[in-house]
This record gives sequence, C-alpha cells and structure tokens, in this order.
Amino acid sequence: MTRTEMAKEAYMTDLTVIEPATEQVLAVLARTTGSEVESAVEAAQQAQYAWSRTSPSSKAAVLRAIADLVEERAEDLALVEARNVGMPLNDARAVVSSVAETFRYYAAGPERLTGQTIPVAGGVNMTFHEPIGVVALITPWNYPMSIASWKIAPALAAGNAVLLKPAELTPLSSIELQRIAVEAGLPEGLFSVLVGPGSTIGTQLVEHPCIGKIAFTGSTSVGVGIAARAAQTMKRTTLELGGKSASIVFADSDLRAAAEGLAGGVFGNAGQDCCARSRVFVERFAVDEFLGYLRETVAGLQVGDPLNPATQMGPLISQKQLDAVRAVVDSSPVAFQGNVPQGPGYWFPPTVLYPIDDAHPAATEEIFGPVVCILPFETEEEVIKRTNDSVYGLSGSVWTRDGARALRVARAVESGTLSINSYTSVRVSTPFGGFKQSGIGRELGPDALETYTEVKNVYYNTQE
Ligand code: NAD
Repeated sequence: MTRTEMAKEAYMTDLTVIEPATEQVLAVLARTTGSEVESAVEAAQQAQYAWSRTSPSSKAAVLRAIADLVEERAEDLALVEARNVGMPLNDARAVVSSVAETFRYYAAGPERLTGQTIPVAGGVNMTFHEPIGVVALITPWNYPMSIASWKIAPALAAGNAVLLKPAELTPLSSIELQRIAVEAGLPEGLFSVLVGPGSTIGTQLVEHPCIGKIAFTGSTSVGVGIAARAAQTMKRTTLELGGKSASIVFADSDLRAAAEGLAGGVFGNAGQDCCARSRVFVERFAVDEFLGYLRETVAGLQVGDPLNPATQMGPLISQKQLDAVRAVVDSSPVAFQGNVPQGPGYWFPPTVLYPIDDAHPAATEEIFGPVVCILPFETEEEVIKRTNDSVYGLSGSVWTRDGARALRVARAVESGTLSINSYTSVRVSTPFGGFKQSGIGRELGPDALETYTEVKNVYYNTQE
C-alpha cells in the first residue's frame, strides 16, 4: 500500500485496551486514521519550525515543567501504567519517577548542544547541532512510558517535533504524557500520539518522506524490517531490540544476593524485559547452593494483583504472550515454579529450567516471560565464550568478589550494558543499547542528545 493510499484509508475500527490482570476492557480508543497521520506530520513540521527558533532556556523551561507535572500526577500515571501493563504498582511508581528524571536530565540539553570552532586556512569552521526535524518514535508494550520518555525528551531538547506511536496493547500512558506535555506549555503539534497498528500507522511513519528519523524499540524481527524500509528515504534510525542476556555467577560471589536479585533481574515485569537475565551461568560447584537460594526466592515471590502494594510480579500482557511462554516451558525441563493466582488474568508462574542445554530454544531465544535457564560452567574462558554465543548483546551481569576478574569478564562480554554484582541495566545519565542484533545506537546518557541532530559545518572566510 502506498502512502497516499494509506492516507485515504480510514482505519475505522476502535482499539480496545484490555487490563491483563482482569481481562476486562480498560478503554476503547479511536484509532488514528491515515489522514490524521498526515495532518499530524504537517502540524509537527509547522510547530518544529517555531520550536527550533525558541531560545534554549525557554525549551529547557518547558521540559522542566513537564517533569514537574509528571511528578505532580505521579500516582495517577502509575495507576494507568500498572493497570494497562499489569506492572506492580510500586514498579510503576519507579517508572514514573524515572520519566520525570529523564525530562529533567534532558532539560539541560538545549544549552549543552555546543559545537566546535576549527581553525582552517583563510578563516574558521564552526560546527552546529541542527535538529533533524520531525522524528517518529515507535515503542513496545512492556515499558511504554519510560521508553517513550527516553526518546521524547532528547528529541524535543534537540529542537525536533515528535510523533509517538505506542504499542496497541499499552497506549494509555503515552496519551496521558502527551496531555501533560501540552499542559506544561509544549506548543500544540510538537508532540502527537498516533494510536494504531504497526502494520499501517507504523509503516506510514517509516515510509513518510517528511520524517527524518525513526527511533524504534521493539523486537529484532520488526526492527530489521524498519531499518530496511527507512533506508529507502535515508532516514536516521535508532534501534533498541531484543535480548537474551546472561548473568555469570562465580562461586566466590554472594550467591544469596545473586539469587535473590533475580526477583528483579529476570522475574521483574514478569520477565517482559529486554534486559531480562534469562540465562544464568553458575560455576558448577556452586550450582546446588545457588539453586537452594533461588528456590527460596521463587517460593517467596508475591505474584498477583498489580495494584496490591505487596505484589512483586503481575500477569503477562496478553493471552497470546501467555500461550507463547507456555509453549516454550511445556517443551523444557522445569526444575521448580512459583505460584500464581486463580481466576481471570494472564498468569504464568516464575519458572526455573534446569538442567538444560545451551542449544535448547529456551536458552537461545528471547522468551519474554518469567522463565530462567540455569547453566553450569567450569572456567572463566568457557563461560565468556558461551555467553557470547548469542545473536543478542543487550545486557548482563557478572557476580564475583574478585574485582579484577569482574572487570575482565565485563569487558569480554559482548553486550551494551553490563553490571557487576547488580542487576541494574538502566540509568538516565548513562548510555543504553545493544551489540549485535540487540540494536543500533544508544539511548539515554549525554550522547543520546546528539543522535537527534545533524552536524552542520560552516566555513567563515575571515580574509580581508
Ligand atoms: P514489536 O516489535 O512487536 O512492536 C514494537 C512496536 O513496533 C509497536 O508499537 C508495534 O506496533 C510497532 N510495529 C510493529 N510492526 C511494525 C511495522 N511493520 N512498522 C512499524 N512499526 C511496527 O515489539 P513488542 O512485542 O511491542 O515488544 C517486545 C519486544 O521489544 C521484545 O523483543 C523486546 O526485547 C523489545 N524491547 C527492546 C528494548 C530495548 O531497549 N532494547 C526495550 C523494550 C522492549
């Protein structure tokens, strides 16, 4: 379908948003039509022209105002995210706080986008970071609000307009965020949310000649297609894709902490996390002790109503996801599982697979569910090789009390984000992204700002 045909097509059907913990309808939204996408692109172009001429300090003030308003509405936003994603309320509160932090961090951006002066024969060259123009942001369903903010904040700070297409399953917090941004003083048209499928709206954005960049987070398979189609109009792309991250647990580490941390490191957001450490390599003679601690962790994990403050793990996002996770586990060796509530909701128990071979699909493919493979190893050299034997390279952890080994292994692992004696992957002020098929480019941290700009080089002739 061509862009014009899409623009003519009215995507008439409503979008029904389901609450995964209850299977009840949470909202019914009108899908954005093809012609509404065209109008949003035009409005974005106009708004961007004025925004790019707005002073750095005024841009910064608006971004700070968004952060303030996000904090003011924190509880409402957390409730929306918890109900729509099925994320425990406490985790959703942390997400909202990180969203405010992201806007505040990039509020410093407009005044930090400095260029260089380069002396050359007959004059001087100056470099400028110019905005790209209109940028389309395409986000997944697992952490919709935080991932959107990682893109919106630096893109706006760099002087662009943004069109955000959230995943169909979880559009609600993106819509709230857009309302907040306008209320905080962001000019109309500079940030629009387009609700609907990737196959229609997403394609329209990726192929649109007036859009200069696609910032995408999602699966590797969809990312590959987007990169190919975006290349047709030479769009810039940032791609944050799938993962199959590993934890490497040496016998000299705090084994209990490594096992207890897996409550967040692989069961967090019910495993629907691109950084989930779903392969855990454990030094062979520590496996029994580690499994003992992990059994306690799994048994103690509070799985249930995301709105209950005691809950640590909620449901999966959909019946489709539940079926997919179940299919993997049904053909895998299950060592032990936790509990799940009865009744409606897409529940799947935290699950430990052991003993299991490195080549088993559960140990090679991204599962996106609360499932972890325990893989014994003998030597440092061997475990590095086995860890790197993956098409992915997003995240990972090293657990040991030997500092030199920790750093040696972290340097050798082919991943964009590593943590030592911790499962933390993401901080607003540090770069995040993948090696290999986990993506191209980095988000967050100071350098992400420049990925929303073009470098312009101007020669100034100073000869008399
Ligand atoms: P997905 O790839 O199915 O969809 C992501 C987004 O792309 C959605 O908004 C979807 O509507 C849109 N889309 C789908 N087809 C499209 C097309 N042809 N053209 C344009 N847009 C299209 O991913 P998902 O199922 O929503 O999310 C799960 C995946 O996201 C996992 O693989 C996970 O690892 C990955 N992920 C990666 C990161 C990261 O930062 N690396 C973070 C979160 C999730």
